[in-house]
Amino acid sequence: MISKVEVEEAACIGCGTCWVACPQAFSEHDMGDDLKAVATGALGDQHFMRSAAEGCPTLAISLIDENGVMLFPTEEARAALRATTDW
Ligand code: SF4
Repeated sequence: MISKVEVEEAACIGCGTCWVACPQAFSEHDMGDDLKAVATGALGDQHFMRSAAEGCPTLAISLIDENGVMLFPTEEARAALRATTDW
């Protein structure tokens, strides 16, 4: 069960997928020349949070369970992202 979400600011490209998919957990932050996602500190529906993380094109979102275990991104998701960028 997801009990915490984090956004890696440096990896976020501000595409908006996460705050559209789950506005309870993610919101947009205007950085001036740039938009970034931030975690609101609240949790949304478990499925919507997972959809937001899985839909993030840069895997900037981490989903963490109540024991501190990283649920997403998985190693498979990281490998898939590397495979699309290693060319
Ligand atoms: S989906 Fe990922 S890249 Fe897009 S705004 Fe959210 S954290 Fe940033």
